[in-house]
Amino acid sequence: MTTDEELFDAGLAGAGEVRPVTGPVRPGERITTLQSPWHTTYCDGCGHTFRRGDRVRVDQGGAVRHTSSLLSCAGPADGGVNAEAEVLEFTEGLERTWPVRGELPIRRTEDEPHLLLGPIGGLRRHVCLFCAHTFRPGELVIVCPCQAGARRLCRRAVHRDPSQGLVCWETWSPASKLKVCPVMLTKLED
Ligand SMILES: [Zn+2]
Ligand SMILES: [Zn+2]
Ligand SMILES: [Zn+2]
Repeated sequence: MTTDEELFDAGLAGAGEVRPVTGPVRPGERITTLQSPWHTTYCDGCGHTFRRGDRVRVDQGGAVRHTSSLLSCAGPADGGVNAEAEVLEFTEGLERTWPVRGELPIRRTEDEPHLLLGPIGGLRRHVCLFCAHTFRPGELVIVCPCQAGARRLCRRAVHRDPSQGLVCWETWSPASKLKVCPVMLTKLED
C-alpha cells in the first residue's frame, strides 16, 4: 500500500470525527483528508474548495494550493487538457450506463456556465446545496427547476455524480423528487 493510500484510508476512517487543528501544517505534498485543516476551505488559486482526495502542496508559509492539472491554480501542466477530456469521456460512459430515476434532468456543469464561474468581486464560486463544495468541470448535477414563466429563478444545484463519488442528490433526496425550491421555498410543479 502506498503512503497516499494510507493517508486516504486514514481520512476515510476518521469520517464524521471532528478533530481540533493542532499546530502548523508541515510543508510538502499532501492528499486532502477529512482531518486536513484546509479540507472544505477555499483555495486562493482557483477558488474551489478542497475536497477529500485532492492533491495539494503546502508551502513554507502554510498556504495550500491544489496540484491537480484540472484546476487552474496548478497552472498549465503537461497533459492538462487531455486529462480533462479523459474525465469527460469517463463521465459520459458512466452516464450512459447509470440509470436515471425521477424526472429532473441531469446536467453537466459545462451546460450550466453559472456554476463554473470563477470568484468575482469577492463573491465565492457556486457551491452544492448538499455538500457545500464547489462545482468543477465535467461534473454531473441536478439544477433546481424553479422558474417564473420562462425565467429560471434560483438556479442552485446539487451534485449527482456517483462516478466521482458525489452522491449528494441521492443522499439529499432519496425519492429523487423536489417538491419545494430549497432556496426560494416556492412549491414546484409535479
Ligand atoms: Zn486550487
Ligand atoms: Zn455536492
Ligand atoms: Zn429553486
